Amino acid sequence: MNLERYRRQILVKELGEKGQSTLLKKHVVIIGGGGLGSNSANILVRAGIGSIDIIDYDVLDLSNIHRTSIFDEEDIGKSKSQILGKKLQLINTEATVKGLKRRITKENIESTIKHADIILDGTDNMETRFLINEAAVKNRIPWIYAGVHTTNGMVMGIIPKQTPCLKCISHNYSDKKIGEIPIFANLPLTIASIQCVEAFKILQEKQVSGLIIYDIWKQNFDQIIIKRNPKCTCCCTEEFEFL
Ligand SMILES: [Zn+2]
Repeated sequence: MNLERYRRQILVKELGEKGQSTLLKKHVVIIGGGGLGSNSANILVRAGIGSIDIIDYDVLDLSNIHRTSIFDEEDIGKSKSQILGKKLQLINTEATVKGLKRRITKENIESTIKHADIILDGTDNMETRFLINEAAVKNRIPWIYAGVHTTNGMVMGIIPKQTPCLKCISHNYSDKKIGEIPIFANLPLTIASIQCVEAFKILQEKQVSGLIIYDIWKQNFDQIIIKRNPKCTCCCTEEFEFL
């Protein structure tokens, strides 16, 4: 394997040649190809993840472009996942990049993630996140929760049975529709970047950083260490309500 492309990244001691070689062997599934997912996919393809699946059912809308960095106006009306698969493959022809036009449901999530070393959350709703959480816990696959709203973003790396799961920190699920979420233009790129760092740590079997909360307007960065809920119905007793 020619590592020349990654020469400057390998110089970073947190990764090194060993870490880079590890990333090249990994398979990542990104659920959602919008603001978060497209930016995370872009970072991972360039950083040398060996294989990436990007799952999204939607087509690109003009109002998506302000918070993404791969799409252009000619992509409007086309499948986000298929455009990402095509464009990102050209960026790194040594990686395997697949864009899958698929809506994630309880029927297909386990087959979608079964070969993943890690799952990245690029969704925009809590129902799908709880579904990912349960599928990840059931199949013991780490995943990285990420969310954006106005100028605030959150990231949490979740290693089933080791770190708190989404249900441990969020008991009260509400399916109330909240309408269009306001999002500051470059927030998803920043949060996607933090999400990818947490993914690199997990893929190298290093510790994650707890719940990370970042306000891009106030430039306020918080890191909260949370314990697992010993009564969690997802990661402790494994009573899955969304799967
Ligand atoms: Zn839990």
